[in-house]
Amino acid sequence: KSSRKNHLKDTIIKVNNTTIGGEYLTIIAGPCSVESEEQIVDIAKSVKKSGATILRGGAYKPRTSPYDFQGLNEDGLKLLSIAKKKTNLPIISEIVSVDHLEFFDDIDILQVGARNMQNFELLRELGKVKKTILLKRGFANTIEEFLSSVEYLMSSGNDDIILCERGIRTFEHATRNTLDLSAVAMLKEISHLPVIVDPSHATGIASLVKPMSLAGVASGADGIMVEVHNDPQNALSDGKQSITPYEFDDIVRTSLKIRACL
Ligand code: PEP
Ligand code: MN
Repeated sequence: KSSRKNHLKDTIIKVNNTTIGGEYLTIIAGPCSVESEEQIVDIAKSVKKSGATILRGGAYKPRTSPYDFQGLNEDGLKLLSIAKKKTNLPIISEIVSVDHLEFFDDIDILQVGARNMQNFELLRELGKVKKTILLKRGFANTIEEFLSSVEYLMSSGNDDIILCERGIRTFEHATRNTLDLSAVAMLKEISHLPVIVDPSHATGIASLVKPMSLAGVASGADGIMVEVHNDPQNALSDGKQSITPYEFDDIVRTSLKIRACL
């Protein structure tokens, strides 16, 4: 169902006041984790001013260590809703269990994280939900496996799927992951679904977020998802890869210029 063979035209997804895919460049921005009302509202207002079209913020955080900050859970989603009301930006947050669905009523896009890309029970259940889903590629999964997971969502009845390349695990340790840009171009060729690049988790390094955002757009991505924090040094998660609102503004302006050349 995700293949271009029987569906030549790009899928274009409408979420509230924004459109993903086709001629639109989607800019998703926000902190790794929602930390407080002041933090999320402050970041939401700045990224909106710079041209973000969707606000991100994690509330259920699948952290590698159980001793790291695990997110504010339901309270975090409520704070994200407050930021949505104040900015009118649609919101996206990661869901890790169908048991939490009732808390996601006001969340516009459900994110399935890299670690859950092959959680088939989760995918099957989320496929029945009438909401747009952003599926992140697992860090050790092939493009074929990625698209196979998409079929779990689509065969359960959901057509509004966004693909997200967020870097894969390779022998290279200088960066957190290796951004697979050829996967972006390949996915655009073989699938009709919108593709988003996440340069933050792909590199793990704030200074590399701009070049990889631009490379992602040049590779034909339909948008970028960037972690932005008002105080990266004190962020409760992923501070090293978080950029400031000021740096984000520059990335949006330059990305739009690159997009205009394509
Ligand atoms: C995230 O986007 O907050 C996240 C946890 O990303 P990933 O699932 O790609 O690691
Ligand atoms: Mn993160």
